Amino acid sequence: MSFSRRSFLLGAGSGLSLLVLTACTDEPPRPTKSSTPSPTPSQTVPRPSGIERSGWSSDPFARGAQSFLAPGATPQHRDDLAKPVGGRVFFAGEATSADLAGTVLGAQQSGARAAAEVLDVVRTGEKIAVIGAGAAGAEAARALFRRGFDVVVLEARDRVGGRIDTRTPKSWPLGVELGAWRLGKVTDEPLLARLASLGIATNPLAGLLAAGIDGHAADNTVGAQALATARTWAEARLVDPSLSAALDGSGATAGAAGAAVEGLSDTGLLNASLASLAGVTGASASELSTWYGLADLPARDRMVTGGFSGLIRDSLDGVRVSLSTAVLGVSYSASAVSLKLGTGESLTVDRVVVTVPLGVLKKNAVAFDPLLPFSHRTAISALGMGSVETVWLRFDKPFWSTDAAVWSIVGSDSDITDWVNLQAVTGEPVLVGIVGGKAARRVGKLSDDELVEAVRTALAPFAQA
Ligand SMILES: Cc1cc2nc3c(=O)[nH]c(=O)nc-3n(C[C@H](O)[C@H](O)[C@H](O)COP(=O)(O)OP(=O)(O)OC[C@H]3O[C@@H](n4cnc5c(N)ncnc54)[C@H](O)[C@@H]3O)c2cc1C
Repeated sequence: MSFSRRSFLLGAGSGLSLLVLTACTDEPPRPTKSSTPSPTPSQTVPRPSGIERSGWSSDPFARGAQSFLAPGATPQHRDDLAKPVGGRVFFAGEATSADLAGTVLGAQQSGARAAAEVLDVVRTGEKIAVIGAGAAGAEAARALFRRGFDVVVLEARDRVGGRIDTRTPKSWPLGVELGAWRLGKVTDEPLLARLASLGIATNPLAGLLAAGIDGHAADNTVGAQALATARTWAEARLVDPSLSAALDGSGATAGAAGAAVEGLSDTGLLNASLASLAGVTGASASELSTWYGLADLPARDRMVTGGFSGLIRDSLDGVRVSLSTAVLGVSYSASAVSLKLGTGESLTVDRVVVTVPLGVLKKNAVAFDPLLPFSHRTAISALGMGSVETVWLRFDKPFWSTDAAVWSIVGSDSDITDWVNLQAVTGEPVLVGIVGGKAARRVGKLSDDELVEAVRTALAPFAQA
């Protein structure tokens, strides 16, 4: 297959641009001067000199990237999961945030909420354990510690941060963020202010990865209109259909409404929107609720370049943290909580704040005795745990010529279609691929060599002639 390069710099309202490239099959391959066959895509994109990749889908302490609302699930399930049990067991974490689920700010706010619930019932001198040193656990522990309570954070990993994971690999010119790294100038204002106060740098990003989603990008009108059509159709149904069922049922898949951008098929644009949506929600269209799954998706137009994990280290400053300490069981009564630890020990405390990811709860990796109330178990079962993976590629020099920061490849059969060009942001020749949903789980299973070949093919449309 040959790739002809058609680029469209689409006005994005914010003054930033979304570069859309298409892999075309409608033009015959052009013979090279030596009449040898056209180079294959992987020959035109150099091998990256460094690769760093996430593996959240199989990570035993995450079991996915972020929670989402599956068909039949509602925001009420998040509230149900957040409810304290018997005044002894408290819950926080992004999955318990009704309005900011799947975000760092939502996780932080849930931690503050759980700490306030503990403070309502706690007595002087009591001992409190927080399970998990991610954004939610760090915020809960910080609030309780500042009020003078004896707090211990039990963290399964050998590091703090959870789904915030800053790496500083040797020979990389910048820190690598394998988990959360993009924030919204408006939605994440309090978080951005805190990062600024800590001296953790953030940069603007042409953050239209969710092109086509209501309110997030005016560029891909085909995707936006198809999603709106599907939503309207679904709202008139008796039961909540998956997004793919609603797209099919409403006729949006067959004839995506709206004017196609020149040279890009409606189907390609719709698929690009769905791939971007999966990168934000963690869910493929067949997994996502149409009634609730599309609501209030965060716009992300800044990226953290100064080391996101510094935020968590700051929150936990002075707090006792026990790393490499997985909690396997939580036994609770009217008077105390006993924690069974992976180290073989047990620990008795007065209250516990549980912040382990939904994916961990879904796997029953923490056994509750007695079982959690039915409403908690219903919520854990109804909510979905999505997958997002990131692939950071370092090149010796750029093989691309565009300054656009966000790339969305339309019409490619590659699994990774959304890319961030960090050269436009930091000046370093680094590309970051973002993939969500079922495609993320496929990418997660590739070996490093397979992944490198796949991304070289995917990126071929960006290779300079
Ligand atoms: C690839 C990716 C990209 C993302 N992008 C963004 C983004 O751009 N912007 C944004 O706002 N959000 C983003 N998110 C979501 C964001 O990272 C999360 O919503 C947030 O960090 C979750 O915080 P948390 O405290 O709820 O959970 P976590 O950070 O997962 O913390 C839970 C902690 O519990 C620990 N734990 C698990 N099991 C046990 C156990 N048995 N015993 C003890 N400890 C245990 C874990 O190791 C972890 O440290 C992204 C997530 C991923 C994975």
